[in-house]
Parts: sequence; C-alpha cells; structure tokens
Amino acid sequence: MAYDGFLRSGDDSIIVSAAVIVCSVFGRRVVVGWPLPTCDSSNGSSRMTVTYDVRLFGEVADRYLPVNLGRRSSIARRVVVRESDPEFKLIARAVEEAEVRDGEKLVAGWRVRRRYTDEEMRASRLVLLRIDAVIEPSGEECGTVYLEASACRHCGAGAVQDGALFLRQRGLRRGRDVQRTLGGEVVVSRRVVDLMKKHGVSPDLFGEVYIAKRAIELSTSYSQILTSQERVAASSHTRFGEHPFDDRREGVCPAGDTAGLNILSELTVVSGADIRAAGLMHTDRFVGNRLGLLRPERMIVMSQDLYRELLSAGVTGCSFERVHESTA
Ligand SMILES: [Zn+2]
Repeated sequence: MAYDGFLRSGDDSIIVSAAVIVCSVFGRRVVVGWPLPTCDSSNGSSRMTVTYDVRLFGEVADRYLPVNLGRRSSIARRVVVRESDPEFKLIARAVEEAEVRDGEKLVAGWRVRRRYTDEEMRASRLVLLRIDAVIEPSGEECGTVYLEASACRHCGAGAVQDGALFLRQRGLRRGRDVQRTLGGEVVVSRRVVDLMKKHGVSPDLFGEVYIAKRAIELSTSYSQILTSQERVAASSHTRFGEHPFDDRREGVCPAGDTAGLNILSELTVVSGADIRAAGLMHTDRFVGNRLGLLRPERMIVMSQDLYRELLSAGVTGCSFERVHESTA
C-alpha cells in the first residue's frame, strides 16, 4: 500500500534503483511507485480487469524466468501482466522456486490497478479509497508527535498521534487533492473537506495541518483526515500478504490488529447493521509494518454517495475500488 513518495521519475532506471534501495533497506516492504500503463481496455460493457506492474530483481529473474519475459534494465526486470495471463502463473511459479524454496528475493515491488465498469462501481455500497500520491517528509520527520506507548507491542500499529500534523511545504504536491505520507498521515485539500462535510463526514474528522515554509503556519489549504471511530471489519475473504504471487501471509500480527503487509485482493468487509454506509469509515485492521518511518495503517472506506461526489469533482491523487460485503 505504500512507498511511492520518491519514485515519481519517468526515468525507469531511477525508479528501479529506488525500488531496490527500498527493498534492501526496509526488507519486506514492497514498492508501488511507478505510473501504471493503461494497457487494459475496460469499457462500459466489459468486466473488471486486474493489471499488475511488477519489478523483479534482474539477476534473480534471469535465473528463474525466461529471458524474453518483460523488459530488463541494468538491475531489474519490469513485467506488466494481467491476472489472467499465463505469465502471471509463470511468475508465481518462479516465486515459489526462488523465494519459498531457495530463499532468494525475486519481487522487488509491484502495483495493481483494478479497472471497473460504471455498473460494477455503482453496485458497491462501499468504496475503498486508494491514495496514489505519497509525499515526503512524513509528519514524524517534521515534528508530529506519536505516543509510542499506545501502539501494539507486537506490530507497532495504532500509536496515537498527539496533537496536530506538521509537514513541510516542499513535500506537498501542488494540485493533488489527496496525499499521504510514508507514515500513513492522510492530507486532503480544502475542496475535498467541503465535499466530505456535505456528505455527512463529521468536522471532527479533520485535523489541523501546520506547514513549515519560512515559518510554521496553520494551513488554510489542507486538513488531515483523522481516524474515524466508524469501523468496518475486514472479512476473512480479503487476501493480505507481501505480494500477489505469495500466499505466505507475511506481516500478520499475533495480536490480530495488523492483517498483513499489503492488501492483495479487493477488500471484503463483514456486512452488518453497524455499517452505516454513510460518510467515511476506517477498517478495523491495519496493513503495513512499523519500520523506520513506516507505520501500519487502517484503510479508508467511504459511501457510494461520497465516492460519486469525489468522482464527479475529479479529485486527484487517489483512485477507488469497490468493496465486497460478506456475512463472515
Ligand atoms: Zn499488533
């Protein structure tokens, strides 16, 4: 779910270098930082398409995969593949051999894009907010305080933020309505705040953001989305783990609060009377890991009405996925 703050260059070699650095420094965390090609052709009549943009460690890929699969740069190999492609199974088998059997890291990073028909999105009562724009430095680097003692002792999830969010002007992306930091702090533009309030999101859910320019100023352009007390329960039908080719469920907290390193499937939530299906909610479980500036995060889910409003307003920096509901 995270980690694309500094991976915005169109230069593939730079992107791949950064991907490798992230993986070597942060170990298990995946990198999802490059623009996805829009090679799938979902239109009004076809069903959802799932496309993965995968970066493989080049030297390892050379030993476990056919040389003509994907595009090789100096240190990595990039493969864009749909879930239904035979190449997807080929990579899954190579992961089984390289990572599971031989203990060699093959997948350096990945990103998924799910494309839906309008009918598919309309049929979903809840919608998942995926935040594409990731910014640095994070709040923690700019003076935001966390009460670490309040976090889970196993996975580090749930540390309470103590006071306002502090950021730096140079880190914010101009023109992006929704942004998040490496630490999972979510920042939205004034117009998104207004749209959300119009759809029943409580004003209490928006926190002040102080931005360091020449001096530290209270921002009139941005607010932080605070963690809602409205929760939806992630169902056991949701798949979590490190990457789409691996079923080892990396990163599950023994205390149960963090579900895994990343969400791998679409989100399914437990349907129940407690789902208001209005405004903004957070998942009960976290994804991610606590390492350096990284913190496990709750996922943000919104109502269909709010999604429609944001969509028609053309908000930037995010994308949306349908959310399934099940009884367990
Ligand atoms: Zn935990």
